[in-house]
This record gives sequence, C-alpha cells and structure tokens, in this order.
Amino acid sequence: MSKLTTRASSINRALDEIGDKWCLLIIQEVFWGINSFSEMLAATGVSRGVLTNRLNWLQEVGCLRKTADKEGGRRMHYHLTRKSIALYDSALMALAWERRFFSTPELDYVVLQHRNCGKAFNPEMRCRQCDREVVAADVSYRPGPGATMDERDKKVRRRSSIAVHEAPAARAVYKNLIHVTGDRWTANLIALAFHRLHRFDEFHRELPVATNILSDRLKFLVNEGVFRQQAYQHKPLRYEYHLTDKGEALFPWFIAIQQWGDQWCDPEGKGKPVIASHDCGGELVGEVRCGACGELLLAHEVDFSVNEPATNGAAN
Ligand SMILES: [Zn+2]
Ligand SMILES: [Zn+2]
Repeated sequence: MSKLTTRASSINRALDEIGDKWCLLIIQEVFWGINSFSEMLAATGVSRGVLTNRLNWLQEVGCLRKTADKEGGRRMHYHLTRKSIALYDSALMALAWERRFFSTPELDYVVLQHRNCGKAFNPEMRCRQCDREVVAADVSYRPGPGATMDERDKKVRRRSSIAVHEAPAARAVYKNLIHVTGDRWTANLIALAFHRLHRFDEFHRELPVATNILSDRLKFLVNEGVFRQQAYQHKPLRYEYHLTDKGEALFPWFIAIQQWGDQWCDPEGKGKPVIASHDCGGELVGEVRCGACGELLLAHEVDFSVNEPATNGAAN
C-alpha cells in the first residue's frame, strides 16, 4: 500500500489521532462540558459500539482520561487532558468559521468574552512575527526534518466507513466544519489545495485513494461550497478545483490542527514533516488572538455566555 506523501502527512499526523468525524464530535462535546457516556450518546447520536470504540481510542492517544464519579463509581466521566486542551486554538478557529458561513442557534447567541480586556471578541489567527492575519496565500512550505520519516506507523486508526454524506449528529456545535473535514480524504484534499494543488491527477499522486472515491469527495466539496470548478481544458472538458472564500477561510483551522500535531503527535521527536513560512520571512507560528485587544487567547481567560434573544414576553 502506498503511503501518503510529505505534503499530505503534515496534516495527517494530527488527523490520524483525532480527524475521524466521531472523535472530533466527542472532543467537542467534552469541551462543552458533556462528559458522561449517556450524555455523549444523546448529544452525538452515535451508536454505543462506535462511541465505546472512539472513547477507547481517544484514551489510547492521550486525548481523554476517564474517572469514576464519587457515588459507587459505576458512572464514568471523561475529561480533557493537557493534550486535548491544547486543541483549544482549533476549537476557536472552528467556531469563527461556523459563525461566518452558517447560522446555528447554538452558536449565534454565544458570546465570547476575553477577561483580560473585558470585551466580547471574535478570535483571529495572526503571525507571531509580523502580526498580520494568517491567510493561505501568504504561506509557503518546505520539507521539515520529519519529512522522510513519516511513514504512518502502526497506530493509524482505522477510518470510519461512514459515508461522508451522512450528516453527523444533529446538535453538534461545529457540525458544518466536521461535516466538511471529518473524513480522511476530504480533509486531505482541502489541505492539498492549500499547497496549491488543483487537478485530479495532482491530488491522486499525493493520496493513496481509489479514483472513484477521489471523484466522489471532490464532488462533495464542490457541493458544500468549499471548492469551485474551473475548466482548464475544453476537449475533453477538464476541471481544476479551487478553494472558494469559504474554503480559504478554513486555513487557520488547518494551521491550528497542524501546529497541534507538530507539538503533541510526535512522541519520537522526529520533527515537523513540513515547515510553513510566512511571507514576512519567518517560520509561520499562527497565534490565536483576541480580535478586540490583540492579545494571545488562553482557555482560562475566555468566558462563554449565551445571550438568548428576548422572547415576546420579555421584550414588552
Ligand atoms: Zn508574518
Ligand atoms: Zn481581548
């Protein structure tokens, strides 16, 4: 079986651990304070078997830990670890993307408040060195020290066989982002588009995937408004795939996931498979900051509150 190339592996180190649709959903629920098995079952709509499997997996890779509650110890609770708390940056960028492109009751009324400046804010990703907002067009890549070593090891999880078109659970907060990225191949295609690949053959050269699956996923991303088709040849008709604004706007989320993978999913210290440079001349370090005061955001300095719209009774 051919292995993923370097370009693809830069994002896959992280996705191999948490990139499955159900893993992303579970971690998101725990972020929002849902942490018992039965609550998760209700919140995610996943089957018992799949939930058990993914909870075991997430413990194995160090993203969840389990404790028994005080009374009798029969009910288990799942908690974030230092490793999964570090996914906070990606959670904020996911939230920013969802809010910009979708209207979701769960998110529309959430107010993020930064304790340090006291203001409501939108999170944004900026370059540590030059302070400019991070966009895909300003970033280039070169192989890093981990490039040749990143043969995917034995611990690669078996991807879910769930079709990408099946909507994940109903009330997931980042459901649109998970819908678009929670599949190995769609996530890779978007990542490769950030590396400026556009054509079917270019994608196929990078990914060990059957051509019918590749066509299917490309079509899916066009339908979701992440890619748009652009004809580059007329006889026969051939299309390139380019990111739309909605697709481009996923870039900070990908960078956050990639940075997390570089930091937390490299137990043998092989180094980064890919080094990203910003056009200010330095290595790109994307920092998730408060849009109101510009400071770096830390999980314990952010408050979430829900600002429900006034009902008729309350308004009058
Ligand atoms: Zn910069
Ligand atoms: Zn602030």
